[in-house]
Amino acid sequence: MQNLKPCPFCGSDPIYIEGHSDFVECPGCHATGPNPFIVGGMNRVVEAWNLRAESNPLATSIPMPQNRDQAEKMLLVGQRWLDDNGGAS
Ligand SMILES: [Zn+2]
Repeated sequence: MQNLKPCPFCGSDPIYIEGHSDFVECPGCHATGPNPFIVGGMNRVVEAWNLRAESNPLATSIPMPQNRDQAEKMLLVGQRWLDDNGGAS
């Protein structure tokens, strides 16, 4: 089995739980997941747990705001884009 990456929320070493439906649980913050029925089977649970946002090019192409001022400006830009493009669809 592939090694489990540390919990993305608290950094603790997670535990693989076998049962009727296998999943991963973090003993530090009690985060659990993923649901094998959503990720395509129990053989994909570890692979799905190990997915991280930094491996998704779409996630890293959007900069995170560094403070409240930047966050508010990004919200305004996003709202303007929605207004110009006919709202969320
Ligand atoms: Zn955790």
